[in-house]
Amino acid sequence: MTRDAATTAGAEALCETVRWFAQRGYCPATGGNFSLRLNDERLLITASGVDKTALTAADLLPMTTAGELLADGKPSAETGLHLALYRRDAAIGAVLHVHSVANTLMSRIGQPQQLHFEGYEMQKAITGNDSHEARITLPVLDNSQDMDELADALAQRYDEAAAAYGFLVRGHGIYAWGADLASARRHLEGWEFLLACEMQRRQLENDR
Ligand SMILES: [Zn+2]
Repeated sequence: MTRDAATTAGAEALCETVRWFAQRGYCPATGGNFSLRLNDERLLITASGVDKTALTAADLLPMTTAGELLADGKPSAETGLHLALYRRDAAIGAVLHVHSVANTLMSRIGQPQQLHFEGYEMQKAITGNDSHEARITLPVLDNSQDMDELADALAQRYDEAAAAYGFLVRGHGIYAWGADLASARRHLEGWEFLLACEMQRRQLENDR
């Protein structure tokens, strides 16, 4: 496959994934941002402020991992965090970020520094886990509008985040990634399912 053909195929696959999440309510009010690594130096990232339910390849912008924009347009406001992840780990192939009720609330109730999950079959969706009996951890970082500050906070807790293939930003959303788009999507779907389960479990236990 030529470089252009690979870029086109990657763009189509990324758009399909973005629309899948957006059409299920994970990207209200144009929120969320998504990127795909094309090679060591280049990636595609969603433009700022576009409706993700009908995303097309024209809404994706090529960039270098160093942060140079390779086309006209305004990349997502959270681009800096995507770039920090790609620069940190050459094995990361895609980064997905969404805002859901569960990921927004679960990072706020009790102001946790991390959330723990055990007993869920769905834990096996996260690479490296093969049993519901393990205890897995999703780190929570405090929100900031300053991407450098968030990237610094992530760097300090990178080992924890790397094991989870993701982290929560308090009152904001979740970042999830993987070696390729399919695994990033599986990690994101898995974490969202686990967060929704924990949120409802707490409600049911409170109601008893
Ligand atoms: Zn966000």
